Amino acid sequence: MGNIAADPSHPRYQSLLLRHRLEQAEKQGMLAGSAMIAHGRGEAFDYLLGEQTINSARVATNHALAALRGAKRPVLSLNGNVAALAGRETLLLAEMLQCPVEINIFYRTPQRMKALLEHLGKIKLDEGIDVTILGAAPNARIPGLEGPRAKCTKEGILESDVIFVPLEDGDRCEALVAMGKTVIVVDLNPLSRSAKMASITIVDELTRVMENMLAMMSSPIEDLASNSYDNEAVLDEALHHVATKFTQTSNEA
Ligand code: ATP
Repeated sequence: MGNIAADPSHPRYQSLLLRHRLEQAEKQGMLAGSAMIAHGRGEAFDYLLGEQTINSARVATNHALAALRGAKRPVLSLNGNVAALAGRETLLLAEMLQCPVEINIFYRTPQRMKALLEHLGKIKLDEGIDVTILGAAPNARIPGLEGPRAKCTKEGILESDVIFVPLEDGDRCEALVAMGKTVIVVDLNPLSRSAKMASITIVDELTRVMENMLAMMSSPIEDLASNSYDNEAVLDEALHHVATKFTQTSNEA
């Protein structure tokens, strides 16, 4: 696997590269036991989407970025998969937005937190990125959630007005929306609870989203009327895209 992931000419290079990043992260103790399952579910949906950024995802990404750029207190939240797949890009985006990132993991253990802090701290140092990383010392709770997954920081997630939480689970997404925040998720499954609950859902693969966002950051802020954004339509378009692809494929057969 290591060799294949290092060969860009392999037709599945990108997919193998992401798997390899997760394997490495697993060895470093950054991931929960279910991380690979979550990734596999994402891969299946990405296959159906044609492993591309579809038009509605680009629209959602544009609105997400406009919301983050217009926020008073934006925050980018990372779990283990996000840190492993796109830790560098998330830190770079936070630096551009001049906002903190917060490590916020579903299955919180001191060992995982330590591994994640070390991983992100190394990227920060290697790349000279100036960003505050929150989450090591939670001092607040997300109302409506039980147990360790409710933990967060006051200066990060709790007091944020716009929160970017890629690959979030449905429950926590719902709790964040209930707090009145603009919640932006990235989820390849347009039918997931998070996708349906979020204010803005980007139905696209995380690493593509981060690349798109970083590229869009160098363009002037677009004047997007927030009332023109319709998340349900974005989800419908993703489902329609998959269904149309199926119809085309079966007609061709
Ligand atoms: P929900 O509670 O929202 O219904 P779930 O239980 O279906 O979520 P989880 O296991 O919490 O899903 O999280 C995995 C989700 O993240 C899946 O919907 C999957 O499609 C998506 N996903 C996994 N990897 C990626 C990725 N790299 N980019 C975008 N989405 C991804």
